[in-house]
Amino acid sequence: MKLVLATSNKGKVREIKALCEDFEVVPYSELIDEFEIVEDGDDFKENALIKARAVFKALNDKDVIVLADDSGISVDILGGEPGIYSARYAGADATDKDNLYKLIDALKTKGVESSPAHYTAAIAIVTKEGEYSVHGWMYGNAINRAIGEGGFGYDPMFVPLGYDKTLGELDDETKKSISHRAKALSLAKVILQTF
Ligand code: IMP
Repeated sequence: MKLVLATSNKGKVREIKALCEDFEVVPYSELIDEFEIVEDGDDFKENALIKARAVFKALNDKDVIVLADDSGISVDILGGEPGIYSARYAGADATDKDNLYKLIDALKTKGVESSPAHYTAAIAIVTKEGEYSVHGWMYGNAINRAIGEGGFGYDPMFVPLGYDKTLGELDDETKKSISHRAKALSLAKVILQTF
């Protein structure tokens, strides 16, 4: 089964491909020109649906299955920030590194070394038969420094519960077995099997 991803985020594409080995996974940018999608939903689920619907419409192929991931990190001591604004925390054109160091600075400004935090992933599936959405979460602590080069985004500052290393230090297989994205995708696969 071919799944078109409504994202070009390299980190997400790499992880979703590794987690969906039974599917042919194609980022939409390999099929049509990339275009701007305004993510103005109030939560992860709405934004995932906005992306999946926009790509489904643009592809103009009723038989396609589009999958979107909207995700982010929520830090308790910051009242849940950056949450749905994780990708643009340091500004509209921010890089992953800009966002990472802005979050580290926010923890330092609060005067803490770490805070409980969690990642959320909402996965939306849009097909001619309907729209579906599922979620997955990963809990842990955000720390006020970056350690390791693995993963992407905020991973060098996130220590999952039950571990003493950041996702930047842990290997891909470990993240694959515990991540918010892996949990959401395992639910998404149950839906995909019904097609
Ligand atoms: P989106 O593409 O609008 O869903 O934005 C996702 C944001 O959350 C990006 O800034 C990512 O770096 C961050 N993010 C989501 N999932 C992860 C993850 O698994 N590791 C690190 N950062 C993540």
